[in-house]
Amino acid sequence: MAKQKKQFLLDIEPKQLYSVLKPIVSENYRTDQIIQWIYSKKVLDFEGFTNISKDIRGNLESSFTLRSFTNVIKDESILDGTVRYTFRTYDNKYIYAVCLPADNKKTVCISTQVGCPVSCKFCLSGKTKFVRNLSRGEILEEILHIENDIKERVSGILFMGMGEPMLNYKNLTSVIKTLISKKEMNIGKRHITVSSMGIIPAIKNLANEMYGVRFALSLHATDDKQRTKIIPNNFGTTISDLLNVCKYYLKKTSSRVTIEYILLKDFNDTSTDAHRLARLMKTNGLVNPSVQVNLIPYNETNSFDYKTPLQVSILNFKKILKLNGITVNIREPKGLDIGAACGQLGKK
Ligand code: SAH
Repeated sequence: MAKQKKQFLLDIEPKQLYSVLKPIVSENYRTDQIIQWIYSKKVLDFEGFTNISKDIRGNLESSFTLRSFTNVIKDESILDGTVRYTFRTYDNKYIYAVCLPADNKKTVCISTQVGCPVSCKFCLSGKTKFVRNLSRGEILEEILHIENDIKERVSGILFMGMGEPMLNYKNLTSVIKTLISKKEMNIGKRHITVSSMGIIPAIKNLANEMYGVRFALSLHATDDKQRTKIIPNNFGTTISDLLNVCKYYLKKTSSRVTIEYILLKDFNDTSTDAHRLARLMKTNGLVNPSVQVNLIPYNETNSFDYKTPLQVSILNFKKILKLNGITVNIREPKGLDIGAACGQLGKK
């Protein structure tokens, strides 16, 4: 929970607010109205709770706060309109979120931790030292801030920013509950995607708890030795374990699963890799219209030696998967000029 002088109201789950606010707000229907002001009308301060008495507003004001970030920097891409937000947290750490505009819709990519404890060998976000999990309220504030800034509701949420969401499971799922609740933020569960490098017990829980959100696995390799080179902190999981848990997620939730595959020049971008990936998917029952492979051509950073593959290798990789009946997409990098693309979310 974000520690501040006043309690951060977004950190408290709405269902707990009835008892937490009891000393100030005695009737439950008033608390319902307050929940509506916070999560549905998204007002920035207690002044805005216009159907709540001045006295109650004053009491809320003296014990609670509705926002925690102390500074926000905005960078806008001249290439594609992507906006990167840098938020300063109450304890002076920096976290990032990205707003991706497409076809009149806005999708946001949000962070779940300050730094990342997994530190994949190609990812700039992972180079930022891990400090702590973001609280429920901080994660929600990323979205609420952006909606307020762009003056419209976002249509999709990607848990693909800084951090490994599955290592912050409790707050992640608390946020998901608020996102999908009709009375709170009311975002369609199919428009929410959680990406993970593979924390198997948490992925199973996410499936069992039936939120119905989409799941994306950062696979990135086709044999275990190769994967360990780029993801040494793999919690002892093998590629076979990971594909198995994807199958489990698919069966249990019938929501779409994405296999993310970063393409690193001369490392995992050969025809042999593509054929091996196709075989792995076949043997694990993942050649299925509900499973999609997202190829992510590497976004180069100064911090690592990996290079983006040649266009011809990218297209060849795609073609091989397609010929094997796999749904495959090449993810276009967004906001490259402002350090907003996948794996670029770190200090500039
Ligand atoms: N920790 C989660 C969430 C991060 S999602 C996860 O691993 O899935 C961000 C996605 O971008 C992941 O698939 C990640 O592996 C990928 N990525 C990281 N650095 C990248 C880079 N430089 N270029 C392209 N993709 C990158």
